[in-house]
Amino acid sequence: MIIRSLALFDRFKCAGSACRDTCCVRDKLVLDNKTYFEYQRVIAKGDAFGRRMVASISERNGVASFRMRDNGECPFLMRNGLCELYVRLGPDRICETCRKFPTFAKEYGNYREIGCSFSCPEVLRLVLTHPEKFEVRVRENDTEPVSFSNLNAKLLPLIYPVRDRFLEIAQDRRNTLRKTATVLLKLAAEVQSVIDRKAYDELASLIAPFEAGDPMGGITGEEPATEVREVLFEKLLKLHTGFEYKRQENAARISRAYKTLRPESFEERRARELDFAWYMNNRVYEYRKWLFYLLHRDLLDVVFDGKFYPRVRFAVLTTLCLFELGSLEWKSRDKQFTPQNQEELFRNYAREIDDNPKNVARLYKKLNGSAYALPKLILALSNPIKKPTDGAAAEPLEEPVEEPIGEKAAETPAETVETPPVEQAPADEAPDGSPQ
Ligand code: SF4
Repeated sequence: MIIRSLALFDRFKCAGSACRDTCCVRDKLVLDNKTYFEYQRVIAKGDAFGRRMVASISERNGVASFRMRDNGECPFLMRNGLCELYVRLGPDRICETCRKFPTFAKEYGNYREIGCSFSCPEVLRLVLTHPEKFEVRVRENDTEPVSFSNLNAKLLPLIYPVRDRFLEIAQDRRNTLRKTATVLLKLAAEVQSVIDRKAYDELASLIAPFEAGDPMGGITGEEPATEVREVLFEKLLKLHTGFEYKRQENAARISRAYKTLRPESFEERRARELDFAWYMNNRVYEYRKWLFYLLHRDLLDVVFDGKFYPRVRFAVLTTLCLFELGSLEWKSRDKQFTPQNQEELFRNYAREIDDNPKNVARLYKKLNGSAYALPKLILALSNPIKKPTDGAAAEPLEEPVEEPIGEKAAETPAETVETPPVEQAPADEAPDGSPQ
């Protein structure tokens, strides 16, 4: 079997009792059979701990799970933030979910893809303090491939290089984030059309222009259309106010963001977005990490259901939505938005929206509506932001281009990069990029 994992996560170390937002608080924690069998042996001893185990585990239709406390905490989470099962029984006798989290593995025939969940604050700390590109580590072992009756074996080897190309595009800093989004959406629509026609051999020709070194792959944007972007993002944010939130403070946060945006004029929105884009000029990579995370995790699932474009649209729009939410928080925090604020925003979004199948299903369904049709999305992305200066509109300005990945970044050993370089580009160095 070929195993592909992200090299950065080799450095992951659970923060344990120092965790800011432990994963030991959740709706449900199902026990795998092997661990449950081990626990039966502990229970059989009949001591006080065994009796507590009996009281803390429920069984329904042969499936055992922990009885979570009223506040969602695991019954074995101790006051010092440590796991009592881990402390008493050792690391090998905690359930599979806890042992593996935050890593996850997905299998596709002879391939296993390993990633790490962004709902873990420590994973996000690692990701956000390493501006460099994700590096994929490939190894092979003798494990037999998993066979799936619904896997499209013809598509799998041909979609792999396409998925990898999408990951490259997401991380290519030669394009602005908007251009990246435009390229991903347009290319994904073409890939979807090829898949729908089962003309899989055409996939290679779609990514060939990128392999020749063109960051846009010959793809262009559209003429700008006034206000499309502002209307679209207002709609998207409003949609988020209707989702299911486990924590009240997160529901309140989204509704606060919407209430900040709602009364703004289109000009004010554009000015906010532009100022925030400048503020984040050297931290745009944070959004690319999110984009990469979803594309890496979800795109290969196309081999099971044939759906490629909807997954790219989901990844792109949640990324842009996080940008919008970030800019609204930045506004309400006196124009400050630290990497820690970003970690909190990403983590809460991952837990409340991305990890909640109900919210994900609703978002997928809504994004399929005419309000988010491809031509509208492309117009919204092509729409320039005009910065008002002294009452007059300045040059149409694209989102500032990030620093290219240069030799300096490559020379810096990754281990020593603790905080991303955050330098504000002076206003007079603004690139005067025009709409694509
Ligand atoms: S959320 Fe991450 S860092 Fe926190 S306890 Fe869980 S695995 Fe450890």
